[in-house]
Amino acid sequence: MNECDVAVVGGGPIGGHVASLLAESGHSVSVFEEHKEIGLPLKCAGLVTPRVLDMVNIKQTAVVQNTIKGAHIHSPSNHILTVGGNRKHAFVIDRSEFDKKILHDAHKKGATILSNHKITAAQRQKDFIILATSQDTEYRCKLVVGADGPYSKIRDRFAFPQPKEFLQGIGAQLVDTSLDHDFVELFVGNAIAPDFFAWIIPTNAKGTRARAGLCVAANAPHHPKQYLSTLLQHENASPFLEQATISGYTGGSIPLGPLSKTYDNNILLVGDAAAQVKPTSGGGIYPGLCCACHCAAVAQDAMENNIFTEKILKKYQKKWHEDIGKELYLGMKFRTIFTRLTDAQFDKYIAKFQQQSITAIISKHGDIDYPSKLIKPLLKKAPTLLTLLPKMLKE
Ligand SMILES: Cc1cc2nc3c(=O)[nH]c(=O)nc-3n(C[C@H](O)[C@H](O)[C@H](O)COP(=O)(O)OP(=O)(O)OC[C@H]3O[C@@H](n4cnc5c(N)ncnc54)[C@H](O)[C@@H]3O)c2cc1C
Repeated sequence: MNECDVAVVGGGPIGGHVASLLAESGHSVSVFEEHKEIGLPLKCAGLVTPRVLDMVNIKQTAVVQNTIKGAHIHSPSNHILTVGGNRKHAFVIDRSEFDKKILHDAHKKGATILSNHKITAAQRQKDFIILATSQDTEYRCKLVVGADGPYSKIRDRFAFPQPKEFLQGIGAQLVDTSLDHDFVELFVGNAIAPDFFAWIIPTNAKGTRARAGLCVAANAPHHPKQYLSTLLQHENASPFLEQATISGYTGGSIPLGPLSKTYDNNILLVGDAAAQVKPTSGGGIYPGLCCACHCAAVAQDAMENNIFTEKILKKYQKKWHEDIGKELYLGMKFRTIFTRLTDAQFDKYIAKFQQQSITAIISKHGDIDYPSKLIKPLLKKAPTLLTLLPKMLKE
């Protein structure tokens, strides 16, 4: 039986960052990743805010493929609302390289990275958790950090609550596009991506490469592939996709509805495993990294006191909730409103938002990581928007 103080299950960006922070503070930590190569297969559109790179101390030149300044939002009737364009709002990153850099950093700080090690079983034994791997090895651990993604085995095995829902995502890598490289193209409506949205993101500074994709709710009437095909033939997209060809596909799930409990004796859950994902955009890297910091701090405390009880680990729930949790729960409320909108309402409200003063507010205050920051300035500028809320819900 191998011994390890902290076992991080899942070598994605969030588990990798927890491992890095723990190793930095001198603790013995091992990361178990089921795949042979970190960062693959790719399951992400790779759009993050600049603060994400600061958090993991990765230089822009190492992973940034393009800079995004704004968005064109396409309504079901093909009206286009332009927001931003004024400043750097987001980076498009090479997500595989991003994951590799985080795990490399953890390794450099002293963490053991065990790729090709899938955790196949986990059980409690007195004050320890015993993990079995696909390499027929066993590890006795004081603390297990479940960072094993949307369908977390650790979450299921130890009967944690489940995310409220799972979105099904699909993506295509495109070459020979002719996009405006400063803007992402976003599409809403029931024919294109019921209950969520579709995107085309330019991935180079010429606008000649892109990632197109979308997510739909699990109960969508058609397979995500069908919606992707509709997106690629969309009337508004045809000018910039005329010469485009598909060079590869990706897929994946997004868990929504952060867990009400993310700790147990000897266990913490973080990242997608805990559904710490922005419900408005499906972005999980920023909130996951915020939670990774709290997870590592509480784990460090537990290690220093050699106590791994629920009572001690509970602090983690409080910390991440106070930090980013409120934003995520508010995001779930926005989502409830969003999923109730009909195509006619999307058209109507997008037309309303087209007013110059409103787009200027969105451009000035819009923050992908904190959509709630928009509420106050929007209502101050256009108090009539408040009257839309009951209408949206009633209609
Ligand atoms: C289509 C799509 C587009 C997205 N676009 C964006 C975006 O633009 N911006 C953004 O911020 N977020 C985006 N996301 C979400 C983002 O990808 C996730 O939130 C992020 O990857 C979460 O990181 P994580 O480390 O928690 O989980 P993951 O990245 O899922 O990592 C978990 C790791 O655990 C491993 N694992 C699972 N089970 C086991 C096991 N039993 N044993 C060992 N290893 C295991 C997996 O192989 C994986 O490497 C997107 C997601 C999808 C599906």
